Amino acid sequence: SIPLGFFGGIGGASKRGILVKGGNYLEALNNVDTVVFDKTGTLTKGVFKVTEIKVKNGISREQLLEIAAYAESYSNHPIAVSILNEYGKEINKDYIESYDEISGYGIKAVVKGKVVLAGNDKLMKKENIEYEDVDAAGTIVHVVIDRKYAGYIIISDEMKKDSEKAVRELKAIGVNKTVMLTGDNKKVADSVGEKLGLDRVYAELLPQHKVEKVEMLEREMQTKGKLIFVGDGINDAPVLARADIGVAMGGLGSDAAIEAADIVLMTDEPSKLVTAIKIAKRTRKIVW
Ligand code: ADP
Ligand code: MG
Repeated sequence: SIPLGFFGGIGGASKRGILVKGGNYLEALNNVDTVVFDKTGTLTKGVFKVTEIKVKNGISREQLLEIAAYAESYSNHPIAVSILNEYGKEINKDYIESYDEISGYGIKAVVKGKVVLAGNDKLMKKENIEYEDVDAAGTIVHVVIDRKYAGYIIISDEMKKDSEKAVRELKAIGVNKTVMLTGDNKKVADSVGEKLGLDRVYAELLPQHKVEKVEMLEREMQTKGKLIFVGDGINDAPVLARADIGVAMGGLGSDAAIEAADIVLMTDEPSKLVTAIKIAKRTRKIVW
């Protein structure tokens, strides 16, 4: 049976916008060794804006943006949303003959009879396209039309104001290691890691690699502590399920993530995790 104090703890947490799906998770929060964050939508706002468009091989800026917007128009990814916002015109879906979203890479679509690629360096390598190696701290979306490199779009995301506080306070309450995993490029990842003071950053990961990293970090833990993974959920359900404690950001998070998670933070503030740990510690004093 669950000691009565846990119900008080769960109730107290829910009043602060933290949904805990069972007393065992509250207990586990007392013994956290490692906290692993996803980047996009968790530590950053996940609201991307197009900040630069660079054209190559004779296409105009307008044409590049238009074809990228068409290729991205069926995607819900924050990157796609930012490109569609920048384009700002209506999309005639009749022009999109096929569409394939390759998780962790980007898009391959047929638009007005042309094969369009829109995605990262990994997609370019996978498709054997010669692309420009861009040196910028933003997310790069290369655009290729019928195997011809057409240029790239740079997209930037903003840090959440709350993220620095979350990392700092986790350290203050005795968490041993803070880590970030992301599918985004290394430059963006390192700059976020440095700003927040994270202990470790792993970039350019596919969703299945995130699970492998979590397993590696679990093996590395010297104590018998717990590992928490915090994610917003686009593609994060497997890693949320795999971690000792899976925490989903409920504000922007996907339904699949909320379902797979053990704890849901109803706002988009990662520091709510610190609140949850503090509640867990207080609850323990009442139970024992
Ligand atoms: P994160 O781990 O930061 O949440 P994702 O796993 O969702 O990132 O995506 C990883 C990378 O894959 C992105 O940074 C981007 O380079 C590429 N990508 C994913 N979806 C798209 C898309 N719809 N259009 C272009 N690129 C994409
Ligand atoms: Mg994500």
